[in-house]
Amino acid sequence: MIYILTGGPATGKGTRSDILANALEIPHISTGDMLRNVAKKNLEIREKLSNGELISDEIITDLLEQRILEDDCKEGFVLDGYPRTLKQAELLDVLLAKYGRAVTKVMELTIPDELAFKRILGRSKCTHCGASYGIDFPPKRKGRCDICGGHLAVRTDDTAETLSKRIETYRENSKPILDYYRDKGILMTVDASAHPERVVEEAQMEI
Ligand code: AMP
Repeated sequence: MIYILTGGPATGKGTRSDILANALEIPHISTGDMLRNVAKKNLEIREKLSNGELISDEIITDLLEQRILEDDCKEGFVLDGYPRTLKQAELLDVLLAKYGRAVTKVMELTIPDELAFKRILGRSKCTHCGASYGIDFPPKRKGRCDICGGHLAVRTDDTAETLSKRIETYRENSKPILDYYRDKGILMTVDASAHPERVVEEAQMEI
């Protein structure tokens, strides 16, 4: 059971990967989380992450190989954040084939652009304790944190302009990767405006 979850901004990839991984009792591997961990001890990676640059296909694939050889990945895993390039998709197949494994399904999460705008522009964070709020989980008092009463602020990079750009970039970059999996007949599209738990039902459906 090797699932890949992919999707543009505000599709809730992280949340849905967690739900799916918990339901299937396999680990959720987020390459972003993995790299943030490595960055604590590795200056080169730390610099790349803070500049928003992609880590090289070879380095990230080596890190992924070490991770999937761990015992908890024996029954499978849910991948989130990888592949980010067509080369990574190809390297992943080579890597898995080495161990007699293959990707089971690739789930692309989609939402209408209007919903992405609503979700992202409606996000805020407590400046004191860091708690997050959004349109689906608003604070009880407007502008105030439920937990500590601190002020809520919107992220400076959460603007309509940057979001349009992020959506466009996602579409351009993901196209060859999605085509690759579509050609293999393992791509499915999941409506991510629906309830997050739906991802589990969809994963268990035949393509
Ligand atoms: P994320 O948490 O998925 O947004 O990832 C955070 C950062 O980690 C990205 O901006 C990239 O710099 C790096 N990263 C995560 N996954 C990959 C990947 N598959 N290939 C290259 N860089 C990655």
